[in-house]
Amino acid sequence: MKDVIAIDGPAGAGKSTIAKKLAVQLNYNYLDTGAMYRAVTLLALTNKVDFSDKKKIVSLAKKAQFQFAFSNDESKLLLFLNGQDVSKLIRSKKINQHVSDVACIKGVRDILVKKQQELAQNGKVVMDGRDIGTRVLPEAEYKFYLTATLEERAQRRFNENLNHDDNVSYQQIKENIKLRDEIDSQRKHSPLKKAEDAILIDTTHFSIEEVVEKIKTIIRSE
Ligand code: C5P
Repeated sequence: MKDVIAIDGPAGAGKSTIAKKLAVQLNYNYLDTGAMYRAVTLLALTNKVDFSDKKKIVSLAKKAQFQFAFSNDESKLLLFLNGQDVSKLIRSKKINQHVSDVACIKGVRDILVKKQQELAQNGKVVMDGRDIGTRVLPEAEYKFYLTATLEERAQRRFNENLNHDDNVSYQQIKENIKLRDEIDSQRKHSPLKKAEDAILIDTTHFSIEEVVEKIKTIIRSE
């Protein structure tokens, strides 16, 4: 798949910030697949569905309409769920606590993967998540797997969170991303895993701009 860039990796590795900047600079679309799993989790919460009721969650995912758009200044990717801007709602502490369990449900994954593949079919897209290089877009022209130490990833999420309302400590964030990484990499269906042909980038000691430049250099040189 020409002009398709897949970016995977654990929580807080810088995927979404880097994917967003790359998309703006290359004039590509950007698709944040984690936001879609978060949105289905939000639907379960707002409809007061028990998280053990997989059937109901799958039916909510089936009916969900997703639309992505950049904010006017291109600094944010907005997600509209069934017409409503849920970009802020999907970043809450409650969603962080439940999203990885929702992402384990095979029926939910099947539906979201299909929607993600449809959204990428016209090319010129950067997509980030956990299973993009392995399952969603295995034929992507470029695949990257970003990682960083747990401490660095937690620190980044903590810094991002300083502007938000949830009162969450560095330690709580660290525990949440550690737990999510464990669930994400051990689950049965499409676990978090580096695709064999993905290029590994450890972002621990690099700035966002440096990683974006690194990726652009690789793309240009191939
Ligand atoms: O990327 P983000 O941290 O927002 O993703 C939230 C959660 O969604 C992940 O922890 C994971 O459980 C799930 N996810 C997934 N597959 C993807 C993207 C996200 O399972 N492609």
